[in-house]
Amino acid sequence: MEKIRMTTPLVEMDGDEMTRILWRMIKDKLILPYVDLKTEYYDLGLLSRNATKDQVTVDAALANIKYGVAVKCATITPNRQRMEEYPELTEMWKSPNGTIRAILDGTVFRAPITLSCIKPVVRNWEKPITIARHAYGDVYKAADMYTEVPGECVMTFKGDDGSEKTVSVMKVDGPAVWQGMHNKDSSIRSFARSCFQYAIDTKQDLWFSTKDTIAKTYDGRFKAIFEEEFENYRKSFDDLGIEYFYTLIDDAVARVIRSKGGYIWACKNYDGDVMSDMVSTAFGSLAMMTSVLVSPDGKYEYEAAHGTVTRHYYKYLKGETTSTNPMATIFAWTGALNKRGELDGIPELCAFAKKLEKACMDTLEAGIMTKDLVALTEPGFEARAVNSEEFLAAIAERLED
Ligand code: NAP
Ligand code: MG
Repeated sequence: MEKIRMTTPLVEMDGDEMTRILWRMIKDKLILPYVDLKTEYYDLGLLSRNATKDQVTVDAALANIKYGVAVKCATITPNRQRMEEYPELTEMWKSPNGTIRAILDGTVFRAPITLSCIKPVVRNWEKPITIARHAYGDVYKAADMYTEVPGECVMTFKGDDGSEKTVSVMKVDGPAVWQGMHNKDSSIRSFARSCFQYAIDTKQDLWFSTKDTIAKTYDGRFKAIFEEEFENYRKSFDDLGIEYFYTLIDDAVARVIRSKGGYIWACKNYDGDVMSDMVSTAFGSLAMMTSVLVSPDGKYEYEAAHGTVTRHYYKYLKGETTSTNPMATIFAWTGALNKRGELDGIPELCAFAKKLEKACMDTLEAGIMTKDLVALTEPGFEARAVNSEEFLAAIAERLED
């Protein structure tokens, strides 16, 4: 059989620990036998980032901008404990995801892979719900303080042009806590564009929610920018028969619970943080959560939502086999290959990505799965826990068929 040819390389960002092991296996067993894989390889493993003073992360993000599509393996974000574990580290390097997101100015979309044998906790959810979280500003970049005496807090903005604006926050008669936060028009606009773009790409409705009845100026600005930007996408939405829908966050929560799923829910930073944990937990397992970073001008970086699965990696190093779930990482590859196929007009590549996804789903629906999923299956469903290698072999067998 002839391998599927590619014209433009995928930007391949390798990573750390157990996911790096799975990465290699997925390529060897599921992709290389069928695709004449073209990638531009960047090693984002911790030691490679250290050796290049993190330049490799920046280069990978720039390549993502150049070529349009990347696939990324999970990576270690070093903390104090990692500094002890890897004494050669010269710095506590920043999160690669944060660096890439800042360079692409993108928004992260997370969606669960759903199965008929694993039902979400919310019984009426029939289709995945994709959460888009605005990952800039608000409480995550706020200035906080605590004061002990009675008094007044005022907020002053000093313009570079010498102008000034001041408002009174509150007068208090005793100890109090305070918080000053911000967001930028440019960031909100990029967020809006990424959301509209992704809704069109995936042909799903887009919901957006804030609390503009209370935060009239702050959240009102979000609502207004989304409305303005939507005008540039309205025709595409109409042509596809999809909808943009704005509602209050309280109303959105109630509607989400009653819904059948199958839409994108765009959330402000804090709402997205909290709601994505709720939605992903209700759907089942972190190991089944896909993630894609989309820039406002349509560059894509596909990855798994989970981390490097450190605990499994240490077992692996001791020579034990592990039952680590490769689904989200496989779907990062299929997402990227499919997008590459769409952009380059290679239908065989898109078809291959779909077939690989189907082989994965068929394997799971046949009851062959990693340990984390077995416990989540419906009562009466017969599931067998296998290790990662056996699981990949079972997928490869179905793919071969
Ligand atoms: P994690 O790697 O997501 O793993 C946490 C736990 O969730 C695992 O110990 C495992 O539970 C379960 N799990 C996650 N993915 C799984 C999979 N594919 N198959 C089976 N079980 C899975 O999170 P972490 O342990 O907090 O973080 C480890 C490292 O990952 C950290 O250095 C962190 O910086 C990094 N990280 C990277 C990214 C990224 O690159 N996108 C995201 C998050 C974290 P059991 O142990 O109970 O089996
Ligand atoms: Mg969270």
